[in-house]
This record gives sequence, structure tokens and C-alpha cells, in this order.
Amino acid sequence: MARAHAIVLGAGMSGLLAARVLADHYGRVTVLERDQLGRTPHNRRGVPQGRHVHGLLPSGAQVLGELFPGLLDDLVTNGGTRLDDYSRLHFVPDGEHRLSPRLQVESIYQQSRPFLESAVRQRVLALPNVHVVDGCDVVGLATSSGRVVGARAVQRGRREEVLSADLVVDAAGRGSRTPSWLAEMGYAKPTEDKVDIDVRYASRLVRLAPGSVPETLVVIGASAHRPVGMALAAYEDNTWMFTMTGYGPAAQAADYEGMVNQAAEFAPAHMITALREALPLGDVSTFRFLANRRRRYDKLRRFPAGLLVTGDALCAFNPIYGQGMTIAALEAAALRDCLRGGDTRLARRFFRAAEKPVQVAWNMAVGADLALPYVSGARPLSMRLINAYVGRLLIAAQHDPAVAARFLRVSAFLVPPSRLMTPLMMARVFSRRGTVSTEVRRERTGSVGIAQVDAVGPEREVGSPTGAG
Ligand SMILES: Cc1cc2nc3c(=O)[nH]c(=O)nc-3n(C[C@H](O)[C@H](O)[C@H](O)COP(=O)(O)OP(=O)(O)OC[C@H]3O[C@@H](n4cnc5c(N)ncnc54)[C@H](O)[C@@H]3O)c2cc1C
Repeated sequence: MARAHAIVLGAGMSGLLAARVLADHYGRVTVLERDQLGRTPHNRRGVPQGRHVHGLLPSGAQVLGELFPGLLDDLVTNGGTRLDDYSRLHFVPDGEHRLSPRLQVESIYQQSRPFLESAVRQRVLALPNVHVVDGCDVVGLATSSGRVVGARAVQRGRREEVLSADLVVDAAGRGSRTPSWLAEMGYAKPTEDKVDIDVRYASRLVRLAPGSVPETLVVIGASAHRPVGMALAAYEDNTWMFTMTGYGPAAQAADYEGMVNQAAEFAPAHMITALREALPLGDVSTFRFLANRRRRYDKLRRFPAGLLVTGDALCAFNPIYGQGMTIAALEAAALRDCLRGGDTRLARRFFRAAEKPVQVAWNMAVGADLALPYVSGARPLSMRLINAYVGRLLIAAQHDPAVAARFLRVSAFLVPPSRLMTPLMMARVFSRRGTVSTEVRRERTGSVGIAQVDAVGPEREVGSPTGAG
């Protein structure tokens, strides 16, 4: 296959990251985007989720830093927030047990989705061989002899055009039409894994009184007793995103006052006071996310040459866990590795490689959803045992920064989930009763400090003598 021209459908995060990788391997890369894209950060129709809290997990940030050297520092220089001091993280994954604020892991970069996407887009636009065409609706694929040879697109006010390409990458998000296009070409559609969740979001960008919330990132999940959770994130330019999340229609607040009232049932009082006194910077936006959905392109026996699928078009997870952009980044890294390996059976190799991070994210998202009573679905014994263990681990993680750090690094895709279950980690998890009672005794006698747990720096990996587990 020649590598003269690649087309990317969609200039969301996965499309931009795919374009960046393709630019190293193709003479020209054209990104076709339906929305009009400006030069400054703004919300747009094709990415309605940009109006809601959008966390970038540390492993996603690492890939972005590799693909765009200097980007992460520039985000901070231009007004974004870098969370290095984890005492400023208030993270209650299961809605009941706050991770120890003494944990220390990789930095978290906090900024709005439009701000991040715009920064990435400017860098992609600066690549000499990448061209982004906005206001351009892709209506189909161009095909010949069972392979994809380009895309059919309509630019505003013009007739349909066929653009030829050696490779087309579908990064058009949850509304991807590749399954139907495959059927039109005589190929089977991919099967879908789907878990219905009916998650509701309500969000508003606000300005808080300076110093009223010392934390910079607050994430409190839903619990088995409460279908509602919240997030409050310091963004660029002293703005904050306040988001309420919940399972089912009863969890959806009607307005801002309703959102704050919901949060008041479980969030610390200083946050509620700050939110009541906040200056609104826009309306309340809502979003409904119906299902975790994974399209199994990796399982198709026949797939046309000249076509790949990435990002939410491949798999979209419950957004509460903040995985989507990071998985898009890990898929871009997988694409880079596959392209380095040549063109033979590219689609098969890419779908298999992408499936690795997707599978981990899927297991984490679906496992966490099915730990809650609001989500229906089969709960095999293995899942129930893992969820029971994670529940126990989160109790330990309140007081043990090593356990908290390990949980966070697994959630952020920095280390595999198996690292939660090393013998040393399990020992820490199950020894908590003794440690907790020691802490309680110390507190009662007025002594501060927790002698049995050590504050941890960035965790060492497998084989490290100082690794926690
Ligand atoms: C409410 C919500 C909150 C989220 N929060 C987080 C979070 O905290 N952290 C995180 O990492 N992820 C989060 N996500 C997920 C994240 O937004 C996505 O996973 C990520 O943006 C990757 O998506 P994508 O680029 O594949 O698709 P999208 O972001 O949906 O982009 C698709 C692009 O394709 C364009 N397009 C679509 N059809 C066509 C067409 N026919 N022709 C031309 N262009 C087209 C669209 O206009 C759009 O620009 C959240 C998602 C939702 C819904």
C-alpha cells in the first residue's frame, strides 16, 4: 500500500491524535470535520461533552507529551492547572471513602475540554503535511474492489466530492457510521458489547471566590446508597467546572440550585458555601449517556483494507471514569507502533493492539458500574469477588497512601490492574483493621501521624525493591 494520503474523519481528540501519528508516515493527512473550528477554544456542536467536566488521566497526558513536546507545560503557562500536591485532590471513588490525601503520583493536568482540544489542534495544524477541512460532512466511504479508497464528503454550500486516500481513519465519535458502511460494502457489521447505564450529567462553569475551595480537584462518586456523585475542577483562567452525575432520571437535577442541593447531601460544607456564592459563567448544560458500548472490530474475520476505526467510534465508556481521551491517546500510540511495523494486515494488527487498553478500560468501567445497584447486567462470580476486594482496598486507601497511590495509578492506566493484587498490596489491604485501630488509638491519645504507613513518592515498578507491592 502506498502511503501518499491519509484521511481522518472527525477533528475530536481521537481524530487529532490519529492525524499527529499519521503525519509521520503519510505524505499528506487530511482531517475532515463537520463543525466550523475557530482558532480559540470554544464549545461546539459536535462535542457536546465539552460543556462537562473533562479530566485527562496521567497516562493520557504522558502520550500527549510524547506526541507534542512542550504541550503540557504550555497548558499550564497558558492558564491551565497542574495538580502536583495531592492534598489538593479530594477523591472519593466509591462515594464513601476518600483516598488518602498523602498519596503522591504523576501530575494531573486540569483544563476545559475546549482549551485542551484547541491546544492540540493548533499543534496538529502546525504540522506541514496536515490539513484540517472544517464545515465538511463525511457522508460515506469511497470503495473499489472491496477496499476503501477514500471518503465522500460535502463541504458547506458545495456538491458531494470524493477524496481519494490510501487510508481512512474513522474518528467520528459515538455516531460513527462505519458499521452501516461495512454492510453496504458487503462486510459483516461488528458485534457490540453493551451495558445500559443511563448516566445523567448536569454542569455549569463558575467562578469561585478566591481561596474558598483549597482543593483543585474534587471527585465524589455515586455509592450503593446514593445514585448521585459530583466533580468540581479548577480550570484555566480561574474558572471551575461544577458537574453533578447520577444514574437514572431521578438523579438529574433540574437547575443549578437543585445541583447544589444534591451536592449538599454529601460534599464538604466549604464547597457547598462556595458553590452557592459562585458567579455563574454560563447556563447549566445537561447530557444523557445511555450505555457503555464497544464495537468488536477485533473479532471480524473480514475487514476492508484502507480503513481503521478509533476513539469513541470503537468504544465509548461511562464518562464518569474519565477514560475516553486517555484511551484515544493510547490507541494513537498503538497506531504509531502498528504503522512502524508496515502495512501488512494493518487493520487486524491495529484492532488487536487497540483492544488491549480498551479491554482494561472496559473491565474497569463496567466492573465499577455493576458494583452499583442502579445498573442491570450479569455479575459473574469473578466480578463480584474483584468488586468486593476493591471495596476493601478503598477502605484501606483512606489511610494508606501506598494503597491509594496504587489505586490511582491503576485507574490512570499507568500500571495494570493486576498490580492491585500483588501479595504485598493484599497484605496492606487486609492488614488495615490493625492499622486503623492504631490510628484511632493515636488520635484518641492526641498523637498525630500514622507510623505504620509511609508517605509514598512516585511508585516503583515490578521488580523494584522499594515497590509497594
Ligand atoms: C459527558 C461526557 C463527559 C466526558 N468526560 C470525560 C473525561 O472526563 N475524560 C475523558 O478522558 N473523556 C471524557 N469523555 C469522553 C471523551 O469526550 C471522548 O472519549 C474523547 O473525546 C474521544 O472522542 P472522539 O474524538 O473519538 O469523538 P468525539 O469527541 O465525539 O469527536 C468526534 C468528532 O467527529 C466529528 N464528526 C462526527 N461525524 C462527522 C461526520 N460525518 N463528518 C465529519 N465530522 C464528523 C464531530 O463533529 C467531532 O468533532 C466524556 C464524554 C462525555 C459524553
